[in-house]
Amino acid sequence: MKFAPLPAACQSLLLRLRHHPVAMHHFLAALGRHAANYGPPLSAVPARVVCTIAAHLSASGPATLIFAPAKSTSFIHNSNFLDVLYIVAFALFIYGLMGLTGPRTAVRGNRIAAVGMLIAVVATLLHQGEGNWALIVVGIVIGTLIGVPAARQVKMTAMPQMVALFNGVGGGAVFLIAWAEFRNSHGFAGEPLYVAVFSLFAAIVGSVSFWGSNIAFGKLQELLPGRPITLGKPQQLVNGLLLAGAIVLAVLVANGSHSELEFIGMLVCAAVLGNFVVLPIGGADMPVVISLLNAFTGLSAAATGVALNNPALIVAGMIVGASGSILTNLMAVAMNRSIPAIIAGGFGGGGQVAGATGAGEQAGSVHAVTAADVAIQLAYARLVVVVPGYGMAVAQAQHTVRELAKALEARGVEVEYAIHPVAGRMPGHMNVLLAEADVPYDQLKEMDDINPEFSRTDVALVIGANDVTNPAAKTNPASPIYGMPILEVENAHSVVVIKRSMNPGFAGIENELYFKPNTSMLFGDAKSAVAEITAALSDV
Ligand code: NAP
Repeated sequence: MKFAPLPAACQSLLLRLRHHPVAMHHFLAALGRHAANYGPPLSAVPARVVCTIAAHLSASGPATLIFAPAKSTSFIHNSNFLDVLYIVAFALFIYGLMGLTGPRTAVRGNRIAAVGMLIAVVATLLHQGEGNWALIVVGIVIGTLIGVPAARQVKMTAMPQMVALFNGVGGGAVFLIAWAEFRNSHGFAGEPLYVAVFSLFAAIVGSVSFWGSNIAFGKLQELLPGRPITLGKPQQLVNGLLLAGAIVLAVLVANGSHSELEFIGMLVCAAVLGNFVVLPIGGADMPVVISLLNAFTGLSAAATGVALNNPALIVAGMIVGASGSILTNLMAVAMNRSIPAIIAGGFGGGGQVAGATGAGEQAGSVHAVTAADVAIQLAYARLVVVVPGYGMAVAQAQHTVRELAKALEARGVEVEYAIHPVAGRMPGHMNVLLAEADVPYDQLKEMDDINPEFSRTDVALVIGANDVTNPAAKTNPASPIYGMPILEVENAHSVVVIKRSMNPGFAGIENELYFKPNTSMLFGDAKSAVAEITAALSDV
């Protein structure tokens, strides 16, 4: 039998533990139990060996420590092979993410990243002694039975709350893993300090993310009121105290207090904090909040990866954390809101908004038209720019819109689509819907590209879009959306707005556009109104 020295990290740990019989007992038990590359302190032990410890902990130290290769293991359990699998998985994550940057490659990118995740999961399960297989299989079956039908059946308009739910599950998994680690190690006894610190960080952030995401889901699903729910002025103080409480308890645990009550107290503080942070934020800001919580979940997963010495969790967590942060920032910029202002809450959700112009205050009247009137305008246009918004998504009118565009193109009319970065309820919402209806990608124009085009546009056809076309964002400093970049449809020769009523959009404010002399309103559901226009077009 070939003997080899115990890896240096294990040797030094054993030496440090030799005056702590209880911790030593746990360490040796863990080493024998897992016998695999499963988190510190086992991280330094190659996965292919089962350690038998011949540890004579005399003052002479590491020279007496040996381990022996146990029964031979196949290459699929070899730690080098598993590392290669992880590297392949990371490469696929990153390559898949690159695909998500354009509608043409997005679906393929998503599939590539999913294959990467499958490889990472398989590699993790191949670690020897990974755990209870029955529980793992039950978990996978339950997750698949819930996740797959839910993801297949969800409507595009309900996608933000779906993302909130899935994100929450990630945060929940992270804090449960930290809790399990706490229990397994009897309060991080014998673990290096960094394991405790990263696990506790992950537990707090994961818990905030889990509970916050649930509230975001409840608001978007209208299970909870969309309006801000707040304790008033003391809210920030209470939140500060909850955060301080969680940190103090975490410090106590990290300092060697093995009390599970303190650990649970820390989780409870973080849970209440997660609720109290999101409840005061209005429904209109929920997509940004979800993106922010997504970044939190990523960071907490990465911290768990450090504690467990799992490279897959570190890389995947950091990718989610970084992309979530970038997305949050992009959305905040597109709405001209700062992230702290969003977190402070109080905006949108259907309630009264400070600075909003009420319907009654608006001078002038609107000009209602019929589908036949609109068909005539469109038939004689050279350039028509379709401006889709949330209403098109709700009505599922994308295919009908595509039919209208085809009919216009058959008459020699040029058709383009103006895409605002926050049209709809999530980033890329309009791109996804129009791609689903086979709208050619080169007809989709970003806001900065299309705005200069409006002055040569004959008809801007606004379909279920409201806030993203509101000129008050440029002209009314009292408006809550003042400063938000908008699609400058009012510069078109003629504007036709399709919506069901004079009700406001998500920001809860009146739209000056509807009262402009070059604007006509076609009242009705987007899908049927567009279908009527297409039908009327054949009579022109
Ligand atoms: P919007 O301002 O919410 O307006 C949508 C309009 O669609 C409403 O005025 C509604 O009027 C109309 N509508 C609803 N159902 C309809 C139907 N079946 N047929 C026809 N019209 C219908 O939408 P938006 O212009 O797309 O702006 C998006 C808003 O969401 C912005 O305030 C943005 O800041 C916010 N937001 C978006 C994101 C994102 O990532 N996309 C993130 C955070 C916040 P009627 O009820 O009269 O029909």
